[in-house]
Amino acid sequence: MGIIIDGKELSRKKREEISRQAGEFSRAHGRPPGLAVVLVGQDPASAIYVRNKKAGCEQCGIRSFEHLLPESTTQKELLALIDTLNADDAVDGILVQLPLPSHLQEREVLLRIDPAKDVDGFHPYSMGRLLMGEPTLVPCTPRGIMYMLDEHGIDPKGKDAVIIGRSNIVGKPAALLLMMRHATITICHSRTLNLDRKVASADIVVAAIGRPEFIRGEWIKEGAVVIDVGMNRTEAGLKGDVEFEGAKRRASLITPVPGGVGPMTITMLLDNTLIAARARVS
Ligand code: NAP
Repeated sequence: MGIIIDGKELSRKKREEISRQAGEFSRAHGRPPGLAVVLVGQDPASAIYVRNKKAGCEQCGIRSFEHLLPESTTQKELLALIDTLNADDAVDGILVQLPLPSHLQEREVLLRIDPAKDVDGFHPYSMGRLLMGEPTLVPCTPRGIMYMLDEHGIDPKGKDAVIIGRSNIVGKPAALLLMMRHATITICHSRTLNLDRKVASADIVVAAIGRPEFIRGEWIKEGAVVIDVGMNRTEAGLKGDVEFEGAKRRASLITPVPGGVGPMTITMLLDNTLIAARARVS
């Protein structure tokens, strides 16, 4: 029976460390680290994420700059705001909450963010450096996954890791981070054949698909570590991408949904803000 990885508790512990370090930064530099969060429109899920990010900042002694813009905001206005935030010395990190309303061009907006303030790690410069194994701001969800493995003493070296999902924000960077730690990686996606057999071969399974309980419990190898990134709103509540009860019987360690990867993501955003702040003053 698998041990459940408690993302809330790990997150609480990490936030204590971030608070302490943000306090040290404030004392040394006469200002706290600063995170600007930009939300365009009224999407209810995005509004909750933005509120949680603001609350996280307050909890950790990071100054948050909230920019809540109307749905009617033009591309030009949004780019002008990014330029202002890029030039503002009190702002160390800039996060544009996605998805943007359909009339705005996400790619151009993300490209406009100064890579030194790219705390989401979505800028091609950050992604390129990650691919080359150079120090950079790393996307928050994959960083959270690595943190959870480390805290549970799981060394990916020599392990077979199967990542299901190849998005730029989760699947690809998670695979790169696991490879950098010497796991042998297999990246699966919607055209992968015999997914069940691939999952059954994995010592570490990372599911980032967006389909409730798609990975069946009986596919999981006895003793595998299962990281479920999925967040799927269903009539029965929030569900992961893994059939939790079945997988828990076979896994050695498993993340629940909710309470697993989710809480770690915002915590890593706060940590990335601290990392960006330190790099900017050094
Ligand atoms: P995404 O961009 O939609 O990517 C989904 C990936 O899953 C794609 O690579 C897709 O393959 C693959 N896929 C879809 N159907 C499949 C199938 N039948 N078999 C195998 N692979 C399949 O999603 P994302 O942004 O990476 O997010 C994935 C999930 O994680 C979502 O539930 C999202 O809400 C959640 N999420 C959670 C957090 C958190 O903090 N907990 C953060 C980010 C995302 P193709 O490339 O072939 O289309």
